[in-house]
Amino acid sequence: MTLKPTQQRNGNLVIPGERLGVIEEFIPDAGTYVKDGIIYSKIVGRALMDMLNRKVSVYPLQEGATIPKTGTTIIGQVGNAQSDNVFVNITKVNTRKKKLSGKFGGILHIYDASDRYIDSMNEVCKPGDIIRAKVISEKNQVYHLSTQDKNLGIIYAFCGQCGTQLEQSRSEMRCPKCSNIEKRKIAPDYGKAEL
Ligand SMILES: [Zn+2]
Repeated sequence: MTLKPTQQRNGNLVIPGERLGVIEEFIPDAGTYVKDGIIYSKIVGRALMDMLNRKVSVYPLQEGATIPKTGTTIIGQVGNAQSDNVFVNITKVNTRKKKLSGKFGGILHIYDASDRYIDSMNEVCKPGDIIRAKVISEKNQVYHLSTQDKNLGIIYAFCGQCGTQLEQSRSEMRCPKCSNIEKRKIAPDYGKAEL
């Protein structure tokens, strides 16, 4: 069996769901999981490629690095969306006014999105939106986010049909280009927030 080259390098910062390699290359070890023969990271950490034993694992990040922490407010972009949760690519820790050096991801669940009842994440956000959220836990090395507070929510949203930035129109969001009407859980400084 020949050793195939892998895109991941030793020490790379990885996030949950990030591809590490395939089972033909490596034996999956701590901090990883396998789906359809592909090895993914289960946690936020540094990938360790043990070429000697042909094992891949992910080590949790050490203290001291600039990473999101429980209680901090983050800015991020909404990625993959399900009906009851969305993945957020964290780009900044708001309170530090400082960009993160690595890639971090968080999960926003529907029950942490709003203080009122909502049917679907479509009423909160859609992929591509820019969101301000608070880190409420780091359970299992995954950042769990909340937008329940009044100052949290979407700060920039884009039309699902044409991609134009939506404008706030009473309780709805309206596309100035194609008149599409959508819903969001917006922050009070929607469209004006500093990125
Ligand atoms: Zn539009």
